[in-house]
Amino acid sequence: MRADIAIVGGGYTGLWTAFHLKQADPGADVVLLEADICGSGPSGRNGGFMYGLWEDFEVLADLFGTKEAARVGHASERAVDLAVDLFRKADIDIWFRRAGHLTVSTSPVFDGALEEFRQLQSRDGFPADLYQLLSASEVADRCRSPQFRAGVLQTRGATVQPARLARGLRAMVQAAGVRIYEGTPVDRIRGGSTVEIVTRAGEVAADQAVLGLNAWSNQIPEFRRSIIPRASHIVLTEPAPERLREMRWIGGEGIGDFRATLNYLRTTPDGRIAFGAATATPGRGADGRMSNDASWYRRLEATLERWFPEFRGVGIDSVWGGPIDVSAHHVPFFGSMWGGNVHYGMGFTGGGVGPCILGGQILSSLVLGRQDEFASLPLVGFRSKRFPPEPLLYVGARLTLEAILRTDDAWEAGKSGNRLLEMLARLPRRLGYNLGH
Ligand SMILES: Cc1cc2nc3c(=O)[nH]c(=O)nc-3n(C[C@H](O)[C@H](O)[C@H](O)COP(=O)(O)OP(=O)(O)OC[C@H]3O[C@@H](n4cnc5c(N)ncnc54)[C@H](O)[C@@H]3O)c2cc1C
Repeated sequence: MRADIAIVGGGYTGLWTAFHLKQADPGADVVLLEADICGSGPSGRNGGFMYGLWEDFEVLADLFGTKEAARVGHASERAVDLAVDLFRKADIDIWFRRAGHLTVSTSPVFDGALEEFRQLQSRDGFPADLYQLLSASEVADRCRSPQFRAGVLQTRGATVQPARLARGLRAMVQAAGVRIYEGTPVDRIRGGSTVEIVTRAGEVAADQAVLGLNAWSNQIPEFRRSIIPRASHIVLTEPAPERLREMRWIGGEGIGDFRATLNYLRTTPDGRIAFGAATATPGRGADGRMSNDASWYRRLEATLERWFPEFRGVGIDSVWGGPIDVSAHHVPFFGSMWGGNVHYGMGFTGGGVGPCILGGQILSSLVLGRQDEFASLPLVGFRSKRFPPEPLLYVGARLTLEAILRTDDAWEAGKSGNRLLEMLARLPRRLGYNLGH
């Protein structure tokens, strides 16, 4: 078939691009190809923490200066507001709740990290009211745990039901006239003045193509050293609303900690806890153990029990995982390649729920050749620092992630870590990557 624009990947990146394209140019003929069903990847099974790119202000300021960093922060925040408004008007319930994101220190070793938030607030261009520092008792008023100490609340953080967002967005995109083909894995893409996209079912010849492939991008040689697939896993409990009340966790806050192997957890409207972690499992591709790893489920259950003794005995209803596309600087990047008519966006590093909305605006502007506020953001045309080549990349990622995990464990237990492991855990940062300790 022919199309003006072919989008590969039916996650948030692909779907938001399709949405913004049809908003900007309703006559555009857009085809979207998805290997499984839209939202079957991380977009339908993430933790649902929705935030913009203010979290990456420091690294953005280092890379592009504070003014540009603030421009990215504001654009990402406006994009989130736009999306929330859109679902409200379309009467699609994505379980949106803006109750804030609480980051807690879980050991004296992590307390120092709170000071960085205090300093961040006084930086030029950074919204002074974004973070609110909380004492240990203020944290306990929001959620009681023997492990929790002081914390910081990101006041604009929200949570959503990720699959409702993905499937709701799919419905909006389809209603706008985008032709969606699910169960259609793309086997090959050939660049040229017409881009040829080959699937088992047939081919699409398009003037332009957009790749929204997240960690699967690393199958494309150009991106093999731009991202590392890394797994994140979640366990979901049975409902136990009365126990949440005992713990005083009834405000709907999303909670995270200061580990580099981040723990993130949130509640659901029917009183469950979804408890996830950015795990220490790197992959050569985005499949396999990325979406299922029993040893991580056991670890998550053990942490959940330790943090919330009230939840002991509550069963686990569901477990799952997925790949995240770790970029060297922890920020997404966008661009055009192969003669300029194949556009890409990736590197959300486990934080794409909000930023993919802006990503869709950026990619839509690149397709339409607009020189606007989105196409001119510094994340466009920016090539993240490259990772080492294989086999060094996989072996290096395995070793450093294991060292990071063990150091996190030692620190959370209030111990100082093994010196050699700590050195290894700090190595990525020493080498200029915004990763590890
Ligand atoms: C367990 C987990 C928890 C997370 N929690 C959060 C969170 O709380 N907050 C947050 O902001 N972010 C979170 N993330 C990250 C977030 O989900 C992603 O950043 C975001 O969904 C990326 O969207 P995407 O469209 O780029 O990728 P995806 O959703 O992965 O979409 C890519 C799509 O491409 C398809 N595909 C792959 N290969 C092909 C092919 N050859 N042909 C056609 N289609 C193909 C895949 O099937 C997939 O549907 C989490 C991720 C995971 C795994």
